[in-house]
Amino acid sequence: MIEDGWLISTNPATGEEAGRVPVADEKAVLAAVERAREAALWWQGLGFAGRRTRILRWRSLIVQRIEELAELTHRESGKPVTDGLIEATAAVEHLDWAARNAKRVLGPRRVRTRLLVAEHSGHLEYQPYGVVGVIGPWNYPIVTPVGPISGALAAGNAIVFKPSEYTPVVGQWLADSFAEVVPEHPVLQVVHGLGDVGGALCRSGVAKISFTGSTATAKKVMAACAENLVPVVLEAGGKDALIVDADADVEAAAEAAVWGAMTNAGQTCIGIERVYAVEPVYDRFVDAVVAKAGKLRTGEEIGPITMPKQLDIIRDHIEDALAKGGRAVLGGAEAVQAPYVSPTVLVDVPEDSSEIREETFGPTLTITKVRDADEAVTKANDTPYGLGGAVFGKKNAIRIARRLRSGMVAVNGTLTFVGMGNLPFGGVGESGFGRIHGDDGLREFARAKAITVRRGPSLLPAMTFERTPAQVKQIVKALRLLYGRKP
Ligand code: NAD
Repeated sequence: MIEDGWLISTNPATGEEAGRVPVADEKAVLAAVERAREAALWWQGLGFAGRRTRILRWRSLIVQRIEELAELTHRESGKPVTDGLIEATAAVEHLDWAARNAKRVLGPRRVRTRLLVAEHSGHLEYQPYGVVGVIGPWNYPIVTPVGPISGALAAGNAIVFKPSEYTPVVGQWLADSFAEVVPEHPVLQVVHGLGDVGGALCRSGVAKISFTGSTATAKKVMAACAENLVPVVLEAGGKDALIVDADADVEAAAEAAVWGAMTNAGQTCIGIERVYAVEPVYDRFVDAVVAKAGKLRTGEEIGPITMPKQLDIIRDHIEDALAKGGRAVLGGAEAVQAPYVSPTVLVDVPEDSSEIREETFGPTLTITKVRDADEAVTKANDTPYGLGGAVFGKKNAIRIARRLRSGMVAVNGTLTFVGMGNLPFGGVGESGFGRIHGDDGLREFARAKAITVRRGPSLLPAMTFERTPAQVKQIVKALRLLYGRKP
């Protein structure tokens, strides 16, 4: 809710105010980016070591205040405090990893000499963009922004962050706590508001945008950035599948499916929304899932649906699945009781229903019986999305994981990859492109800079008008010698 220039953030479960922040207009966004430009120069000048110390100090401050942060996240988004704690844990991992590895991944290095230009040495380094804009969603208000922020900061950029209008107070907390350890310059700033403020950030002259949110908005962000050729990394929606193979530990698979589907009330980009279980284990798996999901208490482990309009989408998906012949073995359409949705498990849901094809973003799970792993892979991949996924099995599990069209897969686990700072995170297709986290995530926030340095006269001078016909002949001869033979 916006009132007199203030964005008032409320708890979706109780309606209580969680805090208020000033709304930025276009001028304020431009001013923030201007301030960030100067801050970026100072931050870059600190070098990898100076930035590492400061990012690690911020990491430690977050750890010291982790309960406060989790409590605030609970008050603002409604998610259980324990979910907030776990989310903050992942954010701490990314800060720690990015700070410690930026120099190794991005720092200056020599590359090997190439024979045809042996008189030049080659050098590579990755230089920061300057000011990076980060636009975040509400569902994981700590870790989704901290993922790109950790990489962008470690690479040497200043940041202007536009948190979701549903979780601005957590966003402000992140910037305020950072400013406590880096008080000298506004290296991490926040601007608040609705989508128009995100749009203004895309057009503000930032050198790169890191966006996390829905696929529909990702397309708008890319279009806005295209106006000035601003590069983007897009972390968008998903419809992740879990495959249960014949030799899987069925109990463990059920435990993971329930966690993957129901944690954060299913409002997880890499949440498990579909399961494909092979015929021999299908019945046992369904029973185990229903038993485990049936024990979850709505209002306790299952928090509220943060965005009220999502309740209608969840209800529509469940009703569509049931109308097309699906069966609810737990929950159902009546599970939607604003602001909560109780755990819902659906079977026999046709592949053309919205519950299978579109992002539901609620604590619902479809379980589909398949002949074998091949059919499971085909069905799992039959979606425009491709974010994460999971496979339970033994002999063929990794082979199956490789065949899933997605950026990440957990074998005999779910969502695990988001907690490993050294693994890249990002999607394919409608789930977006580019990567955060890991070596690739650090490189996402820096430009490769290639430098050659002459170290002697050219024996085979190719790149000059002063080469002689005889030298050109020699170059061709050398080429034949080096590369002319059939491999
Ligand atoms: P959203 O797309 O509605 O909003 C995301 C952010 O974009 C918000 O800050 C919003 O204010 C801003 N925004 C809206 N319109 C804009 C515009 N025209 N230009 C620039 N910015 C604009 O998404 P949401 O509802 O906040 O988040 C849920 C979605 O995010 C789900 O689809 C989920 O799958 C996805 N998500 C993806 C990841 C990932 O890493 N791939 C992680 C978390 C969430």
